[in-house]
Amino acid sequence: MLLTLLSTLTTSMKIIDNEIYQAYKSGQAKQCKECGEIKLLKDFPLFSTKGAGRKNTCKHCSNALATIRRRLRRQNPPPSSAGDCPSCGRHTTAWVLEHCHQTNRFRGYICDSCNVAFGKFGDDPYTMQRSLNWLSSHG
Ligand SMILES: [Zn+2]
Ligand SMILES: [Zn+2]
Repeated sequence: MLLTLLSTLTTSMKIIDNEIYQAYKSGQAKQCKECGEIKLLKDFPLFSTKGAGRKNTCKHCSNALATIRRRLRRQNPPPSSAGDCPSCGRHTTAWVLEHCHQTNRFRGYICDSCNVAFGKFGDDPYTMQRSLNWLSSHG
């Protein structure tokens, strides 16, 4: 009896996985960049800008991230005035809270350009260093 139940469960799980896989192949699902799970597009929040599409972080992870960022912002208030970004050194008026997505540790406040760049490079110093080396060696 239990065995039958187990095998039924396993079979139904496989069907769900296959559905997601088919949806993924036809562009109706994508991988969340936080949890790595492949989910249906409707499980990804829309950008607030109309026509900008959906975020690459699923609703579940987006909500969790928002909660963490709120807490970190409360514990570490942003600079009260414009200043130089500690990352790139350029003057900024728009501070963005930067934290480690693995450990949830607060890193600091950086400018919007650095925040976007870090995001594009997946917060990976190795990839950024590689890219930097290439840029430096090509004048
Ligand atoms: Zn996720
Ligand atoms: Zn910067």
